[in-house]
Amino acid sequence: MIGQDTLCCENCFSDFVLKRYIKENGQQGSCSFCGSSSVSCLPPGSLESFFIPLLGLYVPAEDVMPTELLKEYDGSFFWERLTEEWVIFSDEVVEQADDLLKEILASLSDETSYFRFLDVWVVEACELDEDVKRERN
Ligand SMILES: [Zn+2]
Repeated sequence: MIGQDTLCCENCFSDFVLKRYIKENGQQGSCSFCGSSSVSCLPPGSLESFFIPLLGLYVPAEDVMPTELLKEYDGSFFWERLTEEWVIFSDEVVEQADDLLKEILASLSDETSYFRFLDVWVVEACELDEDVKRERN
């Protein structure tokens, strides 16, 4: 299913800015993710610039947690954070949100520091600051 002609659509997202961007720049087509037809569609990679700043808000848990803690940690993936905290993906596509995110960020696959975010649990960078502060006190 994922390939050159993979498209996502305005119905895949709940986020207003993304929906508007797809409506304004997309072409009528059928969505590869939520299955909508005759909707504004764009290749997922064209949305990359909206997602890159969000990557900077998270850190892979394994980079900052001691192995002991990591074993107990009930983490979430980047796409889950985007769904729960940012309500970016719509209910239509929630089952495929991880695949969609991988397609959106596919061109980063060479930059392993970013792309591996997709397969590991992440923690919020701001939570981290709190932990660091606590350790110092
Ligand atoms: Zn869609």
